[in-house]
Amino acid sequence: MSQVLIECPETKRPVATGWDLDWAGLEAASIGEQTLVCPECGKEHRWTKDDAWLRADGGG
Ligand SMILES: [Zn+2]
Repeated sequence: MSQVLIECPETKRPVATGWDLDWAGLEAASIGEQTLVCPECGKEHRWTKDDAWLRADGGG
């Protein structure tokens, strides 16, 4: 399982969404529009599956 990340539009830094999935799970998941209070900039961001990617190293 890997952290699902999005890019903060304010800081351009990757931000963990709190989801934990593998690629198959991400493909299969029915993720509608989500909101996230961003730890990088403190604003609320909306994201969908199309905005997300998985952390490459997966944390082991
Ligand atoms: Zn942000």
